[in-house]
Amino acid sequence: MRLEDISKLRLVPGDEVCVIEEFLPGDGAYEAGGKVRSAVIGYPVTNVDLRVVEVKRVNNKIHLPAVGTLVYGLVVSVKEDYALIKILSDSKCVKYSTPFTGILHVSQVHDKYVRSLHDYIKPGDLLKARVISENPPYHVSVRERQLGVVVAYCSACGAELLKQGNTLTCPNCKSTESRKTSAEYGTLKCV
Ligand SMILES: [Zn+2]
Repeated sequence: MRLEDISKLRLVPGDEVCVIEEFLPGDGAYEAGGKVRSAVIGYPVTNVDLRVVEVKRVNNKIHLPAVGTLVYGLVVSVKEDYALIKILSDSKCVKYSTPFTGILHVSQVHDKYVRSLHDYIKPGDLLKARVISENPPYHVSVRERQLGVVVAYCSACGAELLKQGNTLTCPNCKSTESRKTSAEYGTLKCV
């Protein structure tokens, strides 16, 4: 195999890189039965002087919720003063590689004073929120008009609540519930 051909390979563990007569296995590679094979996902890099081939690991770019980003998250649990959120995707519906933990503190719900979160969000709600801290667990805010609950379900029967004016009404059992809704309530196309 020619050198330039080798360097174009994208390898997964076990893939043959070359034969041992061409190169010896360096980092990320091993020899088995006279063949050099990759131990990692990555690209081969050859050192002709040392007659060694390494396989450089590919860093799969990690998609992180940066400060200021708008995200969608699922409300996991709610206490009086804070709620735990599972941050699922960014506002363009691009999912995060792994769900990140978010925290919504009671002071980040409204510009006005809020005593208890229970009157504003419930477990199972989907939120659109803004990330306001640098590192996980990510603190989020839903103070802005466009932010807040985008999908909510009836506490009694589980049906999706419909927004009518400022209240959410269950189309099934007709009960009404209150939330801090987003101006975009009911328009969610993803998650
Ligand atoms: Zn209902």
